[in-house]
Amino acid sequence: MESSPHDRNVFILGAGFSAQAGAPLLDDFLDKSREFKDDPSFGLEADERQRFEDVFKFRREMAQSRDKVRIDLDNIEELFGLVELSRRLGRNNEKTRDATVYLIAKTLELAVKAPGNGRREVVFNVKPEHNEEFRVANQHGRFKVGNAVFGADIYEYFAALACGLLDVPPRRATIATAFITFNYDLVLDRALQRLQIQPDYQLTASSPQTSGLPESGPTCPVLKLHGSANWGVCGKCGKRVLVLPDKFTDSPRDFRFQECDRCHKQSFQPLLIPPSWDKSEYYLMMRPVWTKAFAELKVATRICIIGYSMPQSDMFFKYLLTLALSQNHGLSRLIVIDHNANTHTSSLRERYDQLLDPVFHKRRFTFNDDGFEMFFGSGDRALRALGRGEMLGGNISYR
Ligand SMILES: [Zn+2]
Repeated sequence: MESSPHDRNVFILGAGFSAQAGAPLLDDFLDKSREFKDDPSFGLEADERQRFEDVFKFRREMAQSRDKVRIDLDNIEELFGLVELSRRLGRNNEKTRDATVYLIAKTLELAVKAPGNGRREVVFNVKPEHNEEFRVANQHGRFKVGNAVFGADIYEYFAALACGLLDVPPRRATIATAFITFNYDLVLDRALQRLQIQPDYQLTASSPQTSGLPESGPTCPVLKLHGSANWGVCGKCGKRVLVLPDKFTDSPRDFRFQECDRCHKQSFQPLLIPPSWDKSEYYLMMRPVWTKAFAELKVATRICIIGYSMPQSDMFFKYLLTLALSQNHGLSRLIVIDHNANTHTSSLRERYDQLLDPVFHKRRFTFNDDGFEMFFGSGDRALRALGRGEMLGGNISYR
């Protein structure tokens, strides 16, 4: 494998990326929420159940416009967009919005499975000549050791491959990785942390207020363009972002009592941004994140887009990508991975066909329609496509 000081991979992750961990896709999200609300075994507390009810009440009200407008109210992004717009027009108070944000975070919390809990595990082998280097790379016990093979949760395997942990050290020094994600969940964040890499959220030029997070060790940019289930923004001064070690739904009371170190009020609100609406309200808080995403896309040599349907409602990202690519002179590969079981996949392929210049499309674009799980967890196709995983032999499969 040829080493290059400019080997910069940018991964763009959408809902399809987290699906393997149990996160619902956009259009079956509310079905999941309803299931959690109605089934007492999920243990929703009374005030949590009330918030879920508030969202469904808003949905029922909106459904009355069905005979006039066609909108998919079961799609959480569409519904969230409507809630947000309605709040700004003063048609409903903050309550519905807060309830929607809470429902999203809580549904993700209940739906996302922990590693080892029905999540798939990748087994892989190491080339004999790299045994010793791999042993050193694995000294913190990142990977499970078996009989001449190693194992890892699919997301840890993916993160390790992406970050170059499966490459020999001289090569590792020449590569850079960044993640841009639209997902609120912590699936990637957790996988990186288990590999002893801290997600660098790039929230502000000065560091954000953190609560209980480790501050040293290797980091990797994780740019969450729509916010995150462990971020809060001060509802009073609007100038402080709080980063928690866990989702705010894990301990809602602790979250409520966190004090802003700028205005000294206890008024943090979850920082989740509806994708389908303009982002001006969040501009100040999120600008460093978007600026970094733009900078990464501009210098990327490979861009790998996983499970992101580029919804028509999120024109913002399409423009960001187009603008960045127009200034990118070193892009050698654009790889898209989606699942052909998703109804949107054929139209997604058409959208890329229309977006990309024909010559670039022919030489440098690949569209893989067998999904994240198959692309990364079987055979060495991902290794070849990404130019990563130098130490690995070709035997990669699911246990
Ligand atoms: Zn404040």
